Amino acid sequence: MTPRIADAMALLPIIIAPDPRLKAVCEPVSEVDGTIRKLMDDMLETMYFAPGIGLAAPQVGVPKRVIVVDCARQEEPPAPLRMADPELIRVGDEEVCREEGCLSFPEHFAEVDRRGRIGVRYRDETDSEREIEVEGLLAACIQHEMDHLDGILFVDYLSKIKRGMILRKLGKARRAGDPAERAAAGVP
Ligand code: ZN
Repeated sequence: MTPRIADAMALLPIIIAPDPRLKAVCEPVSEVDGTIRKLMDDMLETMYFAPGIGLAAPQVGVPKRVIVVDCARQEEPPAPLRMADPELIRVGDEEVCREEGCLSFPEHFAEVDRRGRIGVRYRDETDSEREIEVEGLLAACIQHEMDHLDGILFVDYLSKIKRGMILRKLGKARRAGDPAERAAAGVP
């Protein structure tokens, strides 16, 4: 069979903070069609290339409720999850604090408290409704990515001083024409 060029995956430019597109509340997908499936695949390729363990559609400039995650360890086979319209249906009482980063905040990390265990309902790449119960890193990662869909960034959990410091540094890097920032913006 001849490969269809339209199905080839593509790397998408990642939006770096501060940017108003990262603060928008995203629209529901309602149906996972070919366009959304392609978006999910492109987002996964972009995430693996970065490399990262999660990516939300607004980070690539698409204001839709789509996230992808893969928290498999390096020695494990890939375990990608493609999720449209994810919803928290259960949350555990226990909170866990762990260090987080974000592909929209290159080289910045901070400790964030998240629920240790969550139940999530979503539509997968075949538009089937699914429910999963997850904990640990995967639970934190899904909560981080779901936050993006409501314009909430991990720095929003930090003190105003710390958040301001990180955003100022990113703004300065952008003005200095930081190579990572230029690459993300598609500038050679
Ligand atoms: Zn993020």
